[in-house]
Amino acid sequence: MKSWLGAAACLFVQSIAFGHGQPPSFSMGSGNAIFVDIVNVQDEIQVDHKQSKLFYQSTIDFEALEHGFPIFDVEKDPTEVIMDGVPTTQALIKDPTDETKLRIAMQSVAPGRHQMIIKGEIKGAAMGSSGINWLWTMNDLTDRGFLERYLPANFEFDQAPRTLVFKFVRDSHKLNQRIVTNGTVTWLSQDTLQIRFPEYFTSSSFYLHMYVEGRFTELKSQFKTKDGRTVPVLVYSSAAGIVGKFETQAHVSLQDLERRFGTWKHDQVIIYAQEDVSGGMEYAGATVTDFNSLNHELIHSYFARGIMPANGNSGWIDEAITTWADHGSNSADSIGVVGTGMASHSPYFRQTDRKAYTSGARFIRYLDHLFKPFGGMDGALRELLKFRLFNTITTESFRSDLETISGLPLKSHFDQAVMGSPKSSNLSKTRYPNPHHMSVTPDRAQKLFQ
Ligand SMILES: [Zn+2]
Repeated sequence: MKSWLGAAACLFVQSIAFGHGQPPSFSMGSGNAIFVDIVNVQDEIQVDHKQSKLFYQSTIDFEALEHGFPIFDVEKDPTEVIMDGVPTTQALIKDPTDETKLRIAMQSVAPGRHQMIIKGEIKGAAMGSSGINWLWTMNDLTDRGFLERYLPANFEFDQAPRTLVFKFVRDSHKLNQRIVTNGTVTWLSQDTLQIRFPEYFTSSSFYLHMYVEGRFTELKSQFKTKDGRTVPVLVYSSAAGIVGKFETQAHVSLQDLERRFGTWKHDQVIIYAQEDVSGGMEYAGATVTDFNSLNHELIHSYFARGIMPANGNSGWIDEAITTWADHGSNSADSIGVVGTGMASHSPYFRQTDRKAYTSGARFIRYLDHLFKPFGGMDGALRELLKFRLFNTITTESFRSDLETISGLPLKSHFDQAVMGSPKSSNLSKTRYPNPHHMSVTPDRAQKLFQ
């Protein structure tokens, strides 16, 4: 029997490079559509008071590893695309398996470093005379449900630093504009606001809520982490009467999570407390949630937005772990699930398979049973977090890491539980399979909550 530390320390040193969980390039007649490695993004947001609209200009520096038409995505049609200084066009196309839609720049590039500028209108922000109300709402049960809803973005596998710069026309906005985000906010001048996001973020990590001061009740506290940091905890809500109980529960959950899985590593805790719809949604160190799902969503800051899925086929991992962990660490001495196909969808699949909540959680119970001699799944996950925090994982890397940690061969168990025909996954029949996931679409959530 191996000890956790002895097994893990030597084999975790390799870092996960670009290409981890990245879907394959594909032919589109006149050439290949290629996935690229975005290395930096700078968004300039222009506030047009006359039209009451926001417009973006995103400057994307990227590396192409092969010849082809670069793939990106943004929900609303861009108005302009410029590749290496030359105006071009873009097209919305389907992937070869008809799983999702994505955009390609209609300018083929050679391997190497390039710069693409994309311009367009921001979706869904509400502008008033005293400021902007804009909440980014995302959903992992919806195709194209992450940052691409608002700004040009890559698929979830890619991690890159991103900076937003807002240009306000009216000075008065600075006085009234409240910004809640998991990025770092700096006023560069009276009318220029910068938000810098961590470089480990993927398209599903970002939290941004801009609103006019006074619209929400805010309750601020501090959490002392196990490693001695003081992390700000913000609970805010349009319902003043509920912030207190969210704050109390948040501190109980955070303490429990640190005991089970190690230090809270995010720089903040943001909780948008709401009781209008059931469920919540997770972001990196942030959540929009009802009371029942608060603990579930905070667990996701470890699994989903701490250790991050590289694609839809790895989305089951965090939902399975979180569902299991939220209900106490119980074990099952048989595997209990066969051929769910949770991890064998098309490589272009961008959602989480809903079977993760049931079959996935059941599989974690079995892994907990297998790992009992070493401290159970809690112990394995603590080890995993030491080496994979703020990295993306795939089903294959997750299995391989657990094998390293435990010394147990797990391939046959994984093949039995999570592979198989994805058709049996029943994606469409149960739209909201779990009370912890927000029971409205991201568009509806944006309207309701921003
Ligand atoms: Zn969840």
